[in-house]
Amino acid sequence: MSQTLSEYIKEMQQRDEDQPEFHQAVEEVLTSLWPMLEENPEYFDNGIIDRLIEPERTIIFRVPWVDDAGKVRVNRGYRVQMNSAIGPYKGGLRFHPSVDLGVLKFLAFEQVFKNALTTLPLGGGKGGADFDPKGRSNGEIMRFCQSFMTELSRHIGEDLDVPAGDIGVGPREIGYLYGQYRRLSNRNTSALSGKGLSYGGSLLRTEATGYGVVYFTQRMLNTRSIGIEGQRIAVSGAGNVAQHVVYKLLQLGGIVVSMSDSTGTLHSPDGLTDDQWQAIVELKNSKGGSFKDLDQHNGLHFLEKQTPWHLECDIAIPCATQNELNGDDARTLLDNGCQCVTEGANMPSTNEAVEAFQQARILFGPGKAANAGGVAVSGLEMAQNAMHLHWNAKKIDERLQEIMSCIHESCVEYGKQQDHIDYVKGANLAGFAKVAEAMLAQGVI
Ligand code: GLU
Repeated sequence: MSQTLSEYIKEMQQRDEDQPEFHQAVEEVLTSLWPMLEENPEYFDNGIIDRLIEPERTIIFRVPWVDDAGKVRVNRGYRVQMNSAIGPYKGGLRFHPSVDLGVLKFLAFEQVFKNALTTLPLGGGKGGADFDPKGRSNGEIMRFCQSFMTELSRHIGEDLDVPAGDIGVGPREIGYLYGQYRRLSNRNTSALSGKGLSYGGSLLRTEATGYGVVYFTQRMLNTRSIGIEGQRIAVSGAGNVAQHVVYKLLQLGGIVVSMSDSTGTLHSPDGLTDDQWQAIVELKNSKGGSFKDLDQHNGLHFLEKQTPWHLECDIAIPCATQNELNGDDARTLLDNGCQCVTEGANMPSTNEAVEAFQQARILFGPGKAANAGGVAVSGLEMAQNAMHLHWNAKKIDERLQEIMSCIHESCVEYGKQQDHIDYVKGANLAGFAKVAEAMLAQGVI
């Protein structure tokens, strides 16, 4: 191979200067793959890496909508169709002001590897808009979703591209998006997942990402003969993923010392009770209000503008957003005795933080493996829709546990080192192996 890894990364950075998150995600994956690529130059000769980092198709579109005051607003919408070698593009939609092409390319790139790990035939994509749903009325959200789908509907379909939710896109938004898709296409198909139970959704889809994160954590801990019970666990975030991570941890006897949002952290030194969890979920999902309102609520302490990473814990589970945990946070966690980090969010740890965890040889489960339970149950929703039937919760939970076990086994197979398991390497190599094989088999396309 004529180029070094840093030369390759530099060239990529020069091509699209304003996409730091995408470059970070690619660098993390290529750092794992590079020694293998140097031994197998056919991957480079066949352009596999160059093709993996170039989306098959990117759609950027105008999203005009009318606010409650009658003023016309315009946002930018996107769908990055990254790779369909192993199945239709699959991945969420994110509505957040931080959304731009670089963020969506990073998410779509991660999704390709994540979806390959699920064992299901799903390609990777991601989309969204720089729309901020915060403070918007129900009517405004509906009009935005309808306008967004008016364009997106031309580019999706059950065998083509199947979007779902992500940050800012929950059951309500999926409902509005699906309604508009159905109206425009005149078809009632599985072109979106995460649908409501009354119109083709799957049981446990809402819980799946969070439960899967905990199932993956259990399997990592098992390799060191540890269980969840009695462990002190710091969780960040308070959205869909964090809520169901905490619910499952509490069921298994974990001591959850925190949840957080963009305003700060709610600290529970003795561990969250079911009631406190309920109060947080209600505040976030329906009642509105801020975390500050729960300060001193039965022993909860609000730590304004702070993340949870300075709290003493055995396990940390970042479930908020990308780059929420940096190198300093990682060193603080390690100094305080943290033994396991599982990523509930996509790329919540900076590459410096990942390196610190890896060097300390603690258990570190990267998001593309650990949080794949959500998209896996999306895949099960697509299967149920295609068969026109509905599975019960027991069956879905069993399939989810099986899939998380398979992902863990793949990580062990590809990441086993002499004295530990490198889950980052394992996830990246296992995901790559499947996608690269499919790409090689299908020729230069
Ligand atoms: N947004 C989720 C993820 O990051 C789920 C995607 C899906 O279900 O398609 O994996």
